[in-house]
Amino acid sequence: MTTGKLYIVSAPSGAGKTSLVKRLTAELDGLTVSISHTTRPMRVGEQNGVDYFFVSLDEFKAMIERQAFLEHAQVFDNFYGTAQRTVELALADGTDVILEIDWQGAQQVRNMLPDSESIFVLPPSIEILKQRLRGRGQDTEETIARRMQDAVTEISHYPEFDYLVVNDDFETALNQLKSIVIANRVAQRRQQQQIAGLLENLLN
Ligand code: 5GP
Repeated sequence: MTTGKLYIVSAPSGAGKTSLVKRLTAELDGLTVSISHTTRPMRVGEQNGVDYFFVSLDEFKAMIERQAFLEHAQVFDNFYGTAQRTVELALADGTDVILEIDWQGAQQVRNMLPDSESIFVLPPSIEILKQRLRGRGQDTEETIARRMQDAVTEISHYPEFDYLVVNDDFETALNQLKSIVIANRVAQRRQQQQIAGLLENLLN
């Protein structure tokens, strides 16, 4: 059985990463997105167990103690983490898994699982990033200003990523993400396992 590939997708808040990942998983079979745990309050329109598992700080700390996280980090004023077991089960099943996490989590996963691929999604300009943060209409001006600052910090980590995708035209960015996943599926190391029978037949 071939094991799945782990993809890290990071972006500054407002780059459109979540919408891209939603379409990507809807359009490609064998690819799933890991649902993170967070201590942040639920936003309007979000659902527990769909967008995140919304947990209390105590529950989150207990998970850290149980070593239940593959990675975890504090982002803004809240904690976020990826449950190790669900990711491992999906990968073992041959499913490709996407982690939508920040640069701190990306560093932890890369160190532990160097076989993972990491993708950074960039906004086409700082003005558009600002517009997108405003467009949400759910955050105060102060929060937006702080998120802008944090966005610049996040973007400064771009050299650590394998791929850079600019989300200017949505469909173009989506196609670039699809290409990354599809190309990795035909990488020699993976194909050696996937088409072992064919290779043996062809050579004997
Ligand atoms: P938001 O609260 O806007 O959904 O996400 C804020 C930030 O937290 C985003 O940069 C997102 O990528 C990051 N994030 C979401 N889930 C995780 C996670 O499980 N681990 C880490 N390290 N970051 C996460």
